[in-house]
Amino acid sequence: MPRLPQPLRAALLALALLLAGLPLAAISALAQATPIAAAGQGQGQGIDVANMDLAVDPRDDFYDFANGGWLARTEIPADRPAIGVFVELRDEATRRQITLLDGAVDAAAGTDEAKAVALFAQGLDLDQRNRQGVAPIRDALDRIAAVDSAAAFDAYQRRSPFDGVAATLPLSVLPDANDSAVNTLYLGGPTLGLPNRDYYLDDDPSNLAVREAYVENTTAMLGFAGYEEEEAATAAQAIYDFEAKLAAPTLTREQEQDFSLQNNPLGLAELAARYPAMDWPAYLADLGVSGVETVIVTQEGYLEALPGIVAETPPAALRAYLTLRLLRAWDEALSEEIEAVSFAFSQVLSGVEEQPALEERVLNQVNAALPDAVGQLYVAEYFPPAAKAEIEALTGDVLAAFRVRLEANPWMTPETRARAVEKLDAVSVKVGYPDRWRGYADVALGDSFAATLDSAAEVEIRRQYAKAGQPVDRTEWDAPAQLVNAFYNPLANEIVFPAGILQPPFFDAAADPAPNYGAIGFVIGHEITHGFDLSGSQFGPTGNFEDWWTPEDRERFLALNEELAAQYDAIEVAPGLFVNGQITVGENAADLGGIQVAADALQRRLAEETGATPAADPVLDPEAEAAATPTADSVVIEPPFTPEQRFFVAAATVWRTKARPAYVELLVRSDSHSPGEVRAVQPLRNAAAFFAAFGIGPADAEWLAPAARVVIW
Ligand SMILES: [Zn+2]
Repeated sequence: MPRLPQPLRAALLALALLLAGLPLAAISALAQATPIAAAGQGQGQGIDVANMDLAVDPRDDFYDFANGGWLARTEIPADRPAIGVFVELRDEATRRQITLLDGAVDAAAGTDEAKAVALFAQGLDLDQRNRQGVAPIRDALDRIAAVDSAAAFDAYQRRSPFDGVAATLPLSVLPDANDSAVNTLYLGGPTLGLPNRDYYLDDDPSNLAVREAYVENTTAMLGFAGYEEEEAATAAQAIYDFEAKLAAPTLTREQEQDFSLQNNPLGLAELAARYPAMDWPAYLADLGVSGVETVIVTQEGYLEALPGIVAETPPAALRAYLTLRLLRAWDEALSEEIEAVSFAFSQVLSGVEEQPALEERVLNQVNAALPDAVGQLYVAEYFPPAAKAEIEALTGDVLAAFRVRLEANPWMTPETRARAVEKLDAVSVKVGYPDRWRGYADVALGDSFAATLDSAAEVEIRRQYAKAGQPVDRTEWDAPAQLVNAFYNPLANEIVFPAGILQPPFFDAAADPAPNYGAIGFVIGHEITHGFDLSGSQFGPTGNFEDWWTPEDRERFLALNEELAAQYDAIEVAPGLFVNGQITVGENAADLGGIQVAADALQRRLAEETGATPAADPVLDPEAEAAATPTADSVVIEPPFTPEQRFFVAAATVWRTKARPAYVELLVRSDSHSPGEVRAVQPLRNAAAFFAAFGIGPADAEWLAPAARVVIW
């Protein structure tokens, strides 16, 4: 990682459950891309039957029926923890961007485009990077070496973001949850080397092995900062012990689902009373923040414990902790050797066999440093304006279908239902790319890869902190256009679909509507539902943290979420390894709502096309819906399939996945999404339309009895 995203990402991660993205969050950090030939479209009108296994009865095993062909012929590439549609699309997007940057463009000197091309070339110059070693971070290493007390440790953090270091008091800028029209500062929890607090606190054998590997890898990393081997081993253990103490008083992942526990606005005087060792006005001034009197503390218990933890930690351990943070922030910008040693630890976590190709690693850095320069190139080449209009129309269809479902909702009182509709009507939609691209005139092209990254990081960090206290610019994009991902942002009540994800198999303008609704329609419905999941439902139409529920409706909603958590808790993804139903409940609810509303939207679309009477209001009572399920004998399952069948096959295709065992374990322990194989079918099993489309009944393995189904939205 370049120093750019680290300090800002740290606090965002504290709010990760609010800002949950669609695909496996960990993939963006761990998976890299290798081009894989795209499968051709086979017989089946928009779905590829070569990816299916028609010998499998869908009533018996829908995942294999929809994906058996793909599963049989697909191997996980050596440089990947997993393979699936998202990874394949990332591969394709990566290949395209490398081609664009690899001199295919004719960039005029001085333009942002030329800077991106030049930065890419600098990253590929391994001779220079290897010659330099840690020289680009020498000044920062010296600053850290001078930390000789707890007071010096805190004082260093006033400037550490500019070194790429997020430590124990990271500040980030986001819309104020209590007044979402204005940006404010959030003080997050500690920056840790392991994926989350449970790795430090839960003593199961798998965690013990990860901890041991972490200490061993840290020992090797510290060598790059000049530590002798024995000294490094002692320091690595001290870092681990310090991080374990920092992790203990942080909120549990379950607690983080209740935003009220993270919403602790404190005035600067109060903040100084809680953590007197930091000169808060000076910290804010050093970051370029002005006009901010209140900081939202997301980890109050942690902040209370922190002075004691820092005071009892020897300065040598504090220095080692900062040194490791610095090396990790720069690990992909320096020498090959540093990259390789740092990568060895992600290998332990993900099980991946090989490091991704140099071009891909460098592209990641260029995208972090100059995202809109690459995005502009990408969009000009691969995202026609017509696609934007089509997706906006499709999103409108799904929103309209969601509104119908809300109006027919059987478990909310009219009062809460009206508030829910009000929130839905206020959802804003971003599709493709921003109206205004960010410029990089202030980024200086340095004499090395690290120097240019350094300049880009400084410009971006100053831009971010300058936003604190200022009105929120709702037209700004937080995600680059070329990203293969989609988001719901509760602080803006907006859904975002970057150009990167708007391509086959998610979306194909030329394809029949059924698979488009099953794939991108499902994704759109998923993101809309996030506004009404366990976390998103704590925010109102403008993105403010507010309670728009009657107490009895909230109680019914929480009871439905508990039912859903229990349903997923029972799913075993590997021997002895079960989905964490509570941690994944928001994503699972979004999957369930997404498939239901996309199925409704398809019916509305089909009715429009045939001029038939629009479908009746959806029936939201599972028992009543089940009564309408046809028997197996009356359903024909063969190519080209009915529109409803193509819809569900496309939905199950989106989440097909092959993953290494270590990676599955990492996801179950750290990701807020269920594993892909679960996402492909379990949401469908809660939708009556799925059983109807394939004639699935009580005798079939895929059947879920009406009383066991959960329908929240
Ligand atoms: Zn999601």
